[in-house]
Amino acid sequence: MIRLSQVSKTYLSGKNSLWALRAIDLEVKSGDFLVIRGPSGSGKSTLLNMLGLLDEPSSGTVTLKGTRVTYEDFDRLAELRSRCISFIFQAFHLNPVLSLEENVMVPLMIRRDISSNEKQRRVEEWIEKTGLTSHRHHRPDELSGGQRQRVAIARAMVGEPQLIIADEPTANLDSHTSRTILALMQELNREKQTAFAFATHDPVLDEFAKRSLLIQDGAFKQGL
Ligand code: ADP
Repeated sequence: MIRLSQVSKTYLSGKNSLWALRAIDLEVKSGDFLVIRGPSGSGKSTLLNMLGLLDEPSSGTVTLKGTRVTYEDFDRLAELRSRCISFIFQAFHLNPVLSLEENVMVPLMIRRDISSNEKQRRVEEWIEKTGLTSHRHHRPDELSGGQRQRVAIARAMVGEPQLIIADEPTANLDSHTSRTILALMQELNREKQTAFAFATHDPVLDEFAKRSLLIQDGAFKQGL
C-alpha cells in the first residue's frame, strides 16, 4: 500500500548534515501491524513522518498505492492524506472545547464525498465500537487517559483510512489500559484490514505486533 524506497532524510545542524534516515526500504501492506522500536533519536518519528506523507525525503521515493508521491502541491497532498492515512498521538490532541462526539466528527468535516447522514452514522458506529456511547456528550477533561485514547482511535477510524500511524500511543497509559487499547486496534486491524504502524519503546506492543523492526542511527538493524 505504501512503499519507501531508499528513503534518506538529512537535517542541517550548523555546517554538518545530520542523517536522520539512511536509505530506508520499507513496505507497509494492507492488514500489517508493524512496530518500529529504537532508542531515542534513532529516527522513528522521522520514519513515521515519511509514512504519513508529513515530510519530504531528502532522497529516495515514496509510493502510495502504486503512485509516486510528489510534495509540491500541498493541498493535493493533504487531500490524499485525509483519505488514506490517520494519526494517533501519545498526547491524544483532542479539542478540549468539543464533546467526545464532536471530536470524532472533526476529520469528516472537510469530506465532501460523504453525506451528512453517513457521517453521523459512522461517528455513532465508532463511538459504539470504542465503548464510549455513554460518554458521547462529555468533554475530554471529563474522561480518563484510556477513554481519551479511545476517542483518538475512534477519530482515526471514522474516515476509514487504510493506514493508521501511531507515535508512542501507549506512553501515557498504564499497562492494563495499554493492552485493552491495543486489543481494540488489533480487532480493527483484523476486521477492516487497516494497516497500523507504531513507533514505541513499550514492550507491551511486541505482544501484538505482526512485524517488529529495530531502527538505530537511521537504519534498520534486524527484522524479528
Ligand atoms: P526518534 O523518534 O527515534 O526519537 P527522530 O526521528 O525524532 O528520532 O530524530 C532522529 C534524528 O534526527 C535525531 O538526531 C534528531 O535530533 C534529528 N531531528 C529530528 N527532527 C529534526 C529537525 N526538525 N531538525 C533537526 N534535526 C532533527
